[in-house]
Amino acid sequence: MDNLNFRDIGASDKNSLQHLASTCRVFGGNVCPRCGCDEICRIEGGNRRRCPECGYRFTLYSGRWLNEIHVSPSSWLWIIKFFEMELTATRISNETKISYPTILKAVTAIRRSIAAATAHGREFLRNPGASRHIPVFYSREGGGGETTAILTANRIKILDQLEQGYLICTDKDVRHDSLLCDGIWHGPADFGRGFPRFRTYLAHPTGARHFIMERLHKYHGVRDEMLPLYVLEMEYRYNNHGSQLFELLVENICRFVPGKYRGAMERKPASVK
Ligand SMILES: [Zn+2]
Repeated sequence: MDNLNFRDIGASDKNSLQHLASTCRVFGGNVCPRCGCDEICRIEGGNRRRCPECGYRFTLYSGRWLNEIHVSPSSWLWIIKFFEMELTATRISNETKISYPTILKAVTAIRRSIAAATAHGREFLRNPGASRHIPVFYSREGGGGETTAILTANRIKILDQLEQGYLICTDKDVRHDSLLCDGIWHGPADFGRGFPRFRTYLAHPTGARHFIMERLHKYHGVRDEMLPLYVLEMEYRYNNHGSQLFELLVENICRFVPGKYRGAMERKPASVK
């Protein structure tokens, strides 16, 4: 979607709602989020929906990432637009006149919906991981050796366009030029001062690693447990560079939250009436 089109859609709540509703229909379907029934009834002048099978009353947002905050449809699209433009949460809050805590929830929902859009991201969401030990080899001149690094964030598998690899976070005292995990080379990734409280190694190819580092440099540190989400976001931006990122972000936010409702994930065939 170009900016001109976006201005048409984002200009009114009616157009924005239409855009979100049609995206929800394609990504997730017009189904009951609780049981998956796809013959839902409109109630309350079309504002709410009711499932004839399980009786659940819900809105367009229910069960989807969209439901993480309650703002008007055009506000949601503007938040996504500003996120696409890489504005900080503070700037988005100023531009939209929506409170900072709400914007923070919104951008976290966008980041989590990005994670849910990739296989390795879904794996991370299922198991964000506490500190644990995994065997990691280090390489240096004159031969490699074995050490055990302490993971403070979950490793992330890179499955799609990028070579398979992980984000490895180690204690600060692990000082090696590179790490080998499952036979995959991991280069050091410097995210800038004040960031983070551990040393980070990424398996991404050089181009992607630089792209990710350059963007993460703009942040002045994020919470340890949030770092994988930021890396997943930057990796997604890298993989979809030059494509319609805004549309992809809208599609992601319109999908059902994995694991929230069984019904939305396992659609039943339409019942015969
Ligand atoms: Zn239902």
